[in-house]
Amino acid sequence: MYVMHQKIAVIDERTVMLGSLNVLSQHDTREVMLTMRGSHFARKLLEHEHAEVFARPPKCGRCKGSEIEIRRYKQRNWIWRCYATACKTTAKGSSNAWTQDIRLPGSR
Ligand SMILES: [Zn+2]
Repeated sequence: MYVMHQKIAVIDERTVMLGSLNVLSQHDTREVMLTMRGSHFARKLLEHEHAEVFARPPKCGRCKGSEIEIRRYKQRNWIWRCYATACKTTAKGSSNAWTQDIRLPGSR
């Protein structure tokens, strides 16, 4: 994902590793990683992070490639975005990447 300050890894739907900047550290670059075990917590977290949806990116609608990343604009809408350089050069302008809104279950 693009622009994410927190790091989350869920292993086997049981073990959760959460990372972020360590606010107690005197060093700016120091980070901390916590490990928690528990399938209930792991499942709830995956649900909250839309893991099921985000784990299945579509093919690019333009180049049919699978170089798809996730971005979030205006703190609201998640979108799929093709980052293949060959795909972008076929369009007018280099910033004209293929995007598609991500439909999340339960979103209004
Ligand atoms: Zn593409």
